Amino acid sequence: MGEIALQNIVKRFGELDVIRNISLTVKDGEFVVFVGPSGCGKSSLLRLITGLEDVSDGQVLIDGRDVTKLAPSERQLAMVFQSYALFPHLTVADNIGFGLRVSGRPKKEIRERVLTAARALELEPYLDRFPRQLSGGQRQRVAIGRAIVRAPSAFLFDEPLSNLDAALRVQMRLELIRLHDELKTTMIYVTHDQVEAMTMADRIVVLNAGRVEQFDTPIALYDAPANRFVAGFIGSPK
Ligand code: ADP
Ligand code: MG
Repeated sequence: MGEIALQNIVKRFGELDVIRNISLTVKDGEFVVFVGPSGCGKSSLLRLITGLEDVSDGQVLIDGRDVTKLAPSERQLAMVFQSYALFPHLTVADNIGFGLRVSGRPKKEIRERVLTAARALELEPYLDRFPRQLSGGQRQRVAIGRAIVRAPSAFLFDEPLSNLDAALRVQMRLELIRLHDELKTTMIYVTHDQVEAMTMADRIVVLNAGRVEQFDTPIALYDAPANRFVAGFIGSPK
């Protein structure tokens, strides 16, 4: 399960209206991309969903349950950070299992869950290596593995590929799509890159200055952009 509903979400930082009344529902199992120019509020919206920031107004519902007042750890969501967030002194296996160890799961269970995640990510041969012995793409997969073992309701990614070179970025996009096909868990993916959005998403939320300009499939955005902003941003002919 992993339906995420935002109801009239508002976020202000002092005088600044960063998120201006956003309501939308990401369906269970969907791959949704939040796209928009720098500063439009993508990261803020993601942080409101995870609870890393408090909303100024509105509700966040996960599978119908109001989690607005819950701490990030109580929301069963996994935020995937960039690969540099790995622990350099821990092996791949220990990096992936870290969250489970901290929460005191039995060793045998940790080993099994780490192995399952490593298989899904094709990291099995590297379990005893350290992050410095891995390629950029492998490190990124370890970062995703840390999220997978926790069996979250949804994965949230904030520009996870922006530090990678162009070729690796293309490869990682395909791997994330494959992973989504395999896990069928809800994914919300933030990027400022239209191409990334168009190639990865089931549906795209186009954000501009804290508002949703359009929320629809890539094809619908291209064929029937709601306005000039969407047309310009997506690069459709309208
Ligand atoms: P994006 O991820 O789309 O680039 P952000 O969500 O990071 O945009 O930022 C949206 C706006 O909110 C920006 O104007 C940014 O400066 C502002 N902002 C973000 N976080 C804070 C904060 N903690 N305090 C004050 N302003 C913030
Ligand atoms: Mg951002």
